[in-house]
Amino acid sequence: MAAPTYDEIRRAPKALLHDHLDGGLRPATILDLAADIGHQLPAVTPEGLGEWFVAAADSGSLERYLETFAHTVAVMQTAEALHRVAKECAFDLATDGVVYAEVRFAPEQHLERGLTLPEVVEAVLDGFRDGSAEAASAGSPIRVGTLLTAMRHAARSMEIAELSIRYRDAGVVGFDIAGAEAGYPPTRHLDAFEYLQRENSHFTIHAGEAFGLPSIWQALQWCGADRLGHGVRIVDDIGPDNSLGRLAAYVRDKRIPLELCPSSNVQTGAAASIREHPIGLLRDLRFRATVNTDNRLMSGTSMSREMALLVEAFGYGWSELQWFTVNAMKSAFIPFDERLALINDVIKPAYAKLA
Ligand SMILES: [Zn+2]
Repeated sequence: MAAPTYDEIRRAPKALLHDHLDGGLRPATILDLAADIGHQLPAVTPEGLGEWFVAAADSGSLERYLETFAHTVAVMQTAEALHRVAKECAFDLATDGVVYAEVRFAPEQHLERGLTLPEVVEAVLDGFRDGSAEAASAGSPIRVGTLLTAMRHAARSMEIAELSIRYRDAGVVGFDIAGAEAGYPPTRHLDAFEYLQRENSHFTIHAGEAFGLPSIWQALQWCGADRLGHGVRIVDDIGPDNSLGRLAAYVRDKRIPLELCPSSNVQTGAAASIREHPIGLLRDLRFRATVNTDNRLMSGTSMSREMALLVEAFGYGWSELQWFTVNAMKSAFIPFDERLALINDVIKPAYAKLA
């Protein structure tokens, strides 16, 4: 059986749990929006700008990496800009064959030009709705769920958690915290997590990316995270003979989803290369591993490209790609019956034809 090609992978239905709205803009859109507000960019053509983002994220310099988000966030400060970016995000994911996506963003980062938190959320939700409708009429249906992110170095997590509950019936499906792990443990935001648990809500926590096992342990055992954003450092609790430490065993036993982002993990140094990415081991040991994009712009990637890289590095075929896709769908924050419908009516029949 020939290995799945990029074009075949693009046509196959895929599910994505970890994608940042401010990390997935089209370069041409950044140029348009920057021109509207007089924001200076490091390149003047879409190609040049796209290359600059990947090079800056690849540079190994934290300053340059953070500069990439300074540019995208700078052009996402009006309702019109947020609507456009969200609409294009939904459309681009759908045309890449993503049938279910959870896209996250931090509302508190979009208040520089006078928007209120609810105005930010509503502009993005409207954008996702319009982009999904446009994609459906172009023959690529997608369901987009929104995650609201609080920044772990800031002190607005309770407010953002409340916002996620306020919009839970309007497209927000969960909550997340993101930002520098070192020095900002998730337990700083315990009140927000406890509030969400009392509201029977769902949340994921960026943990175990740059920082190791203590961060994963806190996210799960103190904060009650449903999923781990990255969680790639869980391999530090797996011995050379594949024996599992207590925490790794807990993560596997409880089927805690790992939102692994191969290209992004390589760029940030959480993995040395795609070939050496722990996703291979975690899949062999049957952890609830999922494949994600993280920041499509900064990694110059897409869901199809991430899967194609795994096919190349690990020799995966359709059965592994289906396994990752079903894992992601099982781990989604939408209701059980809706997850099941996507698995049984969309994903499995399509992969049955490919295998
Ligand atoms: Zn992330």
